Amino acid sequence: MPTTSSDTGLVWFRRDLRVDDHAALSRALSDCTRVHCAFVYDREILDALPSRTDRRVEFIRDALRELDAALRELGGGLIVVHDRAADAIAALAARLGAGIVVAARDYEPDAVRRDDAVAARLRADGRRLVLVKDQVVYETDEVLTGQGRPFSVFTPYRNAWTKRLEADGAERGPVAPHPVRTLAPGRLAPPPAGLRAASDTAGAGTEPVDGVPGLAAIGFEPTDLASLALPTGARGGATLLADFVGRIGRYREARDFPAVRGPSYLSAHLRFGTVSIRTLVREALHAMRADPADDEGARTWLSELIWRDFYFQVLHHHPRVAERSFRPEYDRIAWEDGAEGDALFAAWCEARTGYPLVDAAMRQLLTSGYMHNRLRMVVASFLCKDLGVDWRRGERFFARHLNDYDLSANNGGWQWASSSGCDAQPYFRIFNPVTQSEKFDPKGAFIRRYLPELARLPDARLHAPWLAQPAEQAAAGCIIGRDYPAPVVDHALARARTLARYAVVKAGG
Ligand SMILES: Cc1cc2nc3c(=O)[nH]c(=O)nc-3n(C[C@H](O)[C@H](O)[C@H](O)COP(=O)(O)OP(=O)(O)OC[C@H]3O[C@@H](n4cnc5c(N)ncnc54)[C@H](O)[C@@H]3O)c2cc1C
Repeated sequence: MPTTSSDTGLVWFRRDLRVDDHAALSRALSDCTRVHCAFVYDREILDALPSRTDRRVEFIRDALRELDAALRELGGGLIVVHDRAADAIAALAARLGAGIVVAARDYEPDAVRRDDAVAARLRADGRRLVLVKDQVVYETDEVLTGQGRPFSVFTPYRNAWTKRLEADGAERGPVAPHPVRTLAPGRLAPPPAGLRAASDTAGAGTEPVDGVPGLAAIGFEPTDLASLALPTGARGGATLLADFVGRIGRYREARDFPAVRGPSYLSAHLRFGTVSIRTLVREALHAMRADPADDEGARTWLSELIWRDFYFQVLHHHPRVAERSFRPEYDRIAWEDGAEGDALFAAWCEARTGYPLVDAAMRQLLTSGYMHNRLRMVVASFLCKDLGVDWRRGERFFARHLNDYDLSANNGGWQWASSSGCDAQPYFRIFNPVTQSEKFDPKGAFIRRYLPELARLPDARLHAPWLAQPAEQAAAGCIIGRDYPAPVVDHALARARTLARYAVVKAGG
């Protein structure tokens, strides 16, 4: 049994599955002469997933294989275990004789509880858990109002965030890369015998295994991930980033049109840390400086990255939002429930609301695990304000299906759409699913891609196909009510019902 030494460190990879610009690895390599690397397939997280076919698990598996290979090239390797994290990390640290375990700080309430438990276990054993900032540019209390309070409105938060970055200096400050490759030689330790990552077919149990376990070994089945336009691993993230940087200048105009390749599609990579947020911010700043034609697009994109930080700090300061409305009065709303609510929710989940843009968006989600941002706003608004279903049901459905599911951004997005959140849209602002469709998918290219049953309808009928005359429906081979559903609600009536439903937020203050 090795003796405990703070010269030996263990880096616990979680949602930072890359080697470059890696805060925890860089810190451990600076502080320790011998550094081991590990990832835990956490049984508490995996066992709670509702399906054994999950693209995110496969995304992680791909990233781990690449990470293991990259660490080996640097003289190390990845130890992969399938266990409860609290047990596994304490046991590994003891077995390796590591005095410190270094990991990137996580802000989700469950992760914070897990890390507290791990820290306590390590402490009891004379070891330390060191958490470092990696997921965000500014965390917790780093950007506060002039009164020292957390921001709850985005624009002043963004202004303060930008001012602070200018003051800190982009090159030296919080977006400077954390070096790894220069520090690794001679310090990165290969896993000892018995913990060696050697093949990707090995099994996994509560004991550390040889190799990055295959999906079957952790109780999962293959998905269609390889057939999607989502290249995996840090290499996949770099490919998407290179593609996006070439069109960053057009981001502002293009980002709202789901049929256009406007956004970066980097969200799953940000979720699992196969790209570093610092790299993305540096790219945006560089584009703003390098070419005036790119300035506006890059600035708008940077603003989206700041929204991401914003929602992380909201979750940190107000962890109750994970369950409850940021504005408590919105929890007085009586949502549609019972059989009627269930039926409406099922129609939304199964892409059969009869509103083409909503249904096409839900099919995009179901068939790829991705949904365009404009459409997330449209379908979320539709669920809460047309169907009258509690935003929490939609949030949970997204959590189950989105490859990029992140509690902070997802909760923030849902509370924005349902008007219950901080800096949300006003409750009386209700998206019209037909005009949204006409505006953002004017030629119906997106709708036709996901709803081929509507493909032959003329553009003018595509956004509200129930208005097509019987002869037009017959000519297009799409009879409403037979080949495509009639609308489950009338938008104008639903809008009136919603205004009445939301009136309760004003009553009683
Ligand atoms: C109801 C709803 C639910 C959402 N759920 C999630 C979620 O679970 N995970 C998630 O990452 N994003 C979520 N978003 C935000 C946004 O829709 C996605 O980040 C974006 O569509 C991802 O695509 P992209 O990487 O191509 O985005 P880009 O437009 O290229 O943006 C770059 C990055 O900025 C961040 N970002 C962009 N918009 C937002 C935003 N509004 N809030 C926070 N961060 C943002 C993301 O990390 C994104 O990857 C949600 C939005 C809504 C309205």
